[in-house]
Amino acid sequence: MKSTYANFAAGPAQLPSEVKKNLLIAIEPNSYIGSKPLWADGNQSRIPGDTLPLDLSLLETSHRSKRIEWIIQDTKERLKALLIGSDSDLSNQYDILFMQGGASLQFTIVLLNLFPDIFIGTERGQEIIGDYIITGTWSEKAACEAKNLSVQINDVLGTLSFPNRAIYDLSAEDFEKQLKFSENSKFIYYCENETIQGFKIPSAMIRKQIQSKKKLVICDMSSSFLTETVDLNLFDVIFASAQKNLGIPGVTVVIVRRELLTKSSLPPMLSYRITADHVSAYNTPPVLSIYSINLMARFISDTFGNLNTLAEYHRQLAFRLYDCIQKGNLFYKTIVKDPYFRSLTNICWALQDEKLESEFNELLSAQSEILEIGGHRSVGGYRASLYNGSTELMVQKLCNFLTQFRMSRSL
Ligand code: PMP
Repeated sequence: MKSTYANFAAGPAQLPSEVKKNLLIAIEPNSYIGSKPLWADGNQSRIPGDTLPLDLSLLETSHRSKRIEWIIQDTKERLKALLIGSDSDLSNQYDILFMQGGASLQFTIVLLNLFPDIFIGTERGQEIIGDYIITGTWSEKAACEAKNLSVQINDVLGTLSFPNRAIYDLSAEDFEKQLKFSENSKFIYYCENETIQGFKIPSAMIRKQIQSKKKLVICDMSSSFLTETVDLNLFDVIFASAQKNLGIPGVTVVIVRRELLTKSSLPPMLSYRITADHVSAYNTPPVLSIYSINLMARFISDTFGNLNTLAEYHRQLAFRLYDCIQKGNLFYKTIVKDPYFRSLTNICWALQDEKLESEFNELLSAQSEILEIGGHRSVGGYRASLYNGSTELMVQKLCNFLTQFRMSRSL
């Protein structure tokens, strides 16, 4: 059944109806006549050694069962197939972990895992320098949390010392000129797509900047992961929480270069090495959330074939909305000035004449289809998030609404 609404929330976000249906089937396998959960192949399990009843709800299945082991492994393989294809060398260089605690937990534990000598509180650890490219709320948060460890922040763009908004007016050329990496830093950290401000660092630009630096590279891809191809070689750790492009909340995907999976004295639940050694099931994993990633990976392969085609789809959706925002003599304005930096997943805009906002909001609340386009409270204006579950129809509905309001005011 198609949704009656168009949900533009920044996450948890709209999911494809196929994914929701398959989640329901996994929760109650008898609920859909003629449809089977993924582990069923006709009247038997497709998983070697799986003797559990086929209609056992995923919510009630032991995480020590063959079935759940298979789901975790299959999900990893599907993600690798989308990201890496058939390059087995590259595939062997990375492991995929499913962790809890959201992307927020990764802000600190990524550092604790890569640099076992640092610890909480500056007294106890050896101080290291990290290059932070701060382009919005999430990279700023990560930098602030790193300060609680013995990490000295090199503010690469100087964002912390001038009002945040100013970087959204920069041209690509000025942005690049502004980058000042430290000679002595041990790693580069950035957030590929700032969900709140709708600012994306294009991969071509960042490749040029980080390729030659010979430092570890950590990237928060929470709101852009699995929307386009990734040049995995550039990265040492990538993390992304699931509830935007990958599925439902409760799990964070961490892709880590295997050679960095060293032993540490971290609590096991925080340790990449222990998580990897236990194939993401050191304790009870969030199975339904991992299953949702499996379903989303299947949805992407079945619908788009590969990440290049999916990326083209995202470009088309986003450009259509940006076009609509920019039509009509600057009635609306985008937050990010240079199109080169505009996010394809979080489209942020405002009314040129802020006095019209209450009228716009009134009209918006009078209809029930378009959900969650309010901008984040720190930015204001409006934001539409277009993730992997978004559809052309949703964008069309929003464009119609924006056009209708603009026309009614320009008469
Ligand atoms: N990074 C980015 C880019 C995000 O958009 C978010 C969530 N909106 C987070 C980190 C934090 O994610 P979580 O809520 O899973 O901790």
